[in-house]
Amino acid sequence: MRQGAKVNSKGLVFLSVLMALFGVLLFNNLGGIRPWLYELSKQGANLYLNLQTQDYQTLEGENFSIKYSQQDENIAQFILYGMEEFYPKVQTVLRYKPAVQKKIPIVVYPDRAALNKSFGWGGDKSAVGVYWAGNICLLSPNALLSGSIDMDKLQEVYLREGPFTHELVHYLVDEMTRGNYSRWLTEGLAQYIERDFTGFVLAEPLPEEKKDIYSLTQLDRTFDQRPNQVLAYWQSLETVDYLIEQHGMEKMDQLLTGLGKGEVFTTAIQKVYDMSITELDEKMKQ
Ligand SMILES: [Zn+2]
Repeated sequence: MRQGAKVNSKGLVFLSVLMALFGVLLFNNLGGIRPWLYELSKQGANLYLNLQTQDYQTLEGENFSIKYSQQDENIAQFILYGMEEFYPKVQTVLRYKPAVQKKIPIVVYPDRAALNKSFGWGGDKSAVGVYWAGNICLLSPNALLSGSIDMDKLQEVYLREGPFTHELVHYLVDEMTRGNYSRWLTEGLAQYIERDFTGFVLAEPLPEEKKDIYSLTQLDRTFDQRPNQVLAYWQSLETVDYLIEQHGMEKMDQLLTGLGKGEVFTTAIQKVYDMSITELDEKMKQ
């Protein structure tokens, strides 16, 4: 669910360069260079993950290329099935089908330690998926639901509560906007569509926590640094709920399309919803 990632010592230099590129991408309006940097950062991330998973096996489907370790041979087909199953459905809701069809890279990590090692990532230990610059990284269902649980049950639970929809929304929002989006928007949409498909919702903050909500600016660049992550995710969903319930999916589609054309986020919000980010912030506080 997290997009961001700190780096471990091995890939420190390489990742630092990548992160610097992401920083430039996220914080500046670079006009013509942005799409180029966007593609470069995705290829860099893919290269880094490939290096980290050289001994993994590969399974190819129509739309996905899945890398998995030997321990996960029993679930590779299932992961492919789940991704292929949900992918066109998420495209339909977002009204977007990528023009150039390339296989989407997925890495399945056998356990949480392997996932954390790859990202050097000490964040949310309950997250089961990470979207990172065109790549979807998943924690194996075997690691999530080990013990006496049988394979049918494991697959049923993972389909319902697993990260298929959530991470696919992150992938498509990123593709649609060419990396030009606010973090709360993609987290809100991921939860919105996930709830619609499977009924799954994350935990809700306590009433007293809701009194002190974050600004949408805080939920953009410093989303991962917010001390109350439950509140950050919940607010993202609340904001997207508000936008879609009040203004419909068509406006959301217009917003994402405008962002894909390189419109500045605040300008795109103003244009589509006829309100500033500050006004949207105020509405969400009510
Ligand atoms: Zn997420």
